[in-house]
Amino acid sequence: MKIKLLILFISGALTFGFGQTDEDVLKTIYTTSLTNGHSYQWLDYLSNTIGGRLSGSTNAELAVQYTKSELEKLGLDKVWLQPVMVPKWVRGEKEMAYFESSDGFHKVNICALGGSIATPDGGTKAQVIEVSTYKDIAGLGEEKIEGKIVFINRALQPELINTFQAYGGCSSERYRGAAEAAKYGAVGTIVRSLSSRQDDYPHTGSMSYGDLPVAQRIPSAAISTNDAVKLSETLKKNPNLEFFLEQSCQQFEDVLSYNVIGEITGSEFPNEIILVGGHLDSWDLGDGTHDDGAGVVQSMDVLRLMKESGITPKRSIRVVLFMNEENGLRGARKYAEVAKEKGENHIFALESDAGGFTPRGFSFTTNEANYSQILDWKPLFKPYLIHYFELGGSGADIGPLRSESNVLAGLRPDSQRYFDHHHASNDTFEHVNKRELELGAATMTSLVYLYDKYGVNPVPKSSNFKD
Ligand SMILES: [Zn+2]
Repeated sequence: MKIKLLILFISGALTFGFGQTDEDVLKTIYTTSLTNGHSYQWLDYLSNTIGGRLSGSTNAELAVQYTKSELEKLGLDKVWLQPVMVPKWVRGEKEMAYFESSDGFHKVNICALGGSIATPDGGTKAQVIEVSTYKDIAGLGEEKIEGKIVFINRALQPELINTFQAYGGCSSERYRGAAEAAKYGAVGTIVRSLSSRQDDYPHTGSMSYGDLPVAQRIPSAAISTNDAVKLSETLKKNPNLEFFLEQSCQQFEDVLSYNVIGEITGSEFPNEIILVGGHLDSWDLGDGTHDDGAGVVQSMDVLRLMKESGITPKRSIRVVLFMNEENGLRGARKYAEVAKEKGENHIFALESDAGGFTPRGFSFTTNEANYSQILDWKPLFKPYLIHYFELGGSGADIGPLRSESNVLAGLRPDSQRYFDHHHASNDTFEHVNKRELELGAATMTSLVYLYDKYGVNPVPKSSNFKD
């Protein structure tokens, strides 16, 4: 008996609590999430009772109040709101679009891009010029572009296994297309939706006019992938077809909103902060289930699952629900600005903003030396089929917290279905799976537990600290 206790005590160097190994603790975390998780019921409320949470909207404010009050119920050490001014863009009436050719009349599924101006009263009707990337616009020049609607028809590359890579390859088309086309006298742009599926859903997302004067700005919209194909085919037969677009979106003055923050204060090193987060705002077309309601509720559940699993963190564990990731990143910037003013030390930040699908692992933004230490924990995740640990990439909201020595990470779920829903009206609650969501929350909690327990000793890149 005594010998057994002694062995347990010796192995205590690698254990949590008396006699519990890290394997045991991870098992407890996963079991708790799958049998008594709260992420799914929180997401149900955010998605179905509140709905889409575009910055500056009433729904965004309802989400602030709801998540704050839910965090308060968890018995954390602190819960507070951090004020931040955010842009307020409103879609207005549902957009309308069609084209007419010798084949007849074709109604088009379209939506304004976030930040776009409206069309003039009564809409815009013009001929269309198709390009495969906004970079082709300059080469065509005013002669070909002036007075026309520029149709940017670039599909996501299906052969890329990581769909975020495919999306990243095309996102500039949506973001910069209108600013570029306007320089050459276009009257509007329509951009093929950044979706990995052929369907009828238009996908919105942010766009920018850059430094273009207000008078030169033109309306910009996303067209569904099915209608992009149809338009392209029709243009080949009838290059003079006319396209009609009407949208009534509007940009208002900035309004006051909030980041929602909760914290379990560390028992030994309260000034070393470990952050988990996602973004509370979403686009307005769906209910923002995957982008990023999932990340919000998983992050909230990290703190709850730690408590439920009997973990008393040494460092401070902070959940941050960022406002305005989608069209401004104001919440992220404000949070980093305040952290800097206060001299706060964020040693680790983990964001979930890639959908509530089956977790595969994490990506890390840090130096090689820090990363090598994190890799020591990878075998602990093997029973949960978490095998993806990669250097490079974390999350937009935590990006401004990057320092020379800290570690930023992103939860990496399976990405195959994410861009079927991203920024579209089918980003809705019925498309999230309860177990997949809960596995993600447990995976995040496990990494936070390990980071709190062992930390990472920042090592200069050149040091040969490891065999
Ligand atoms: Zn997002």
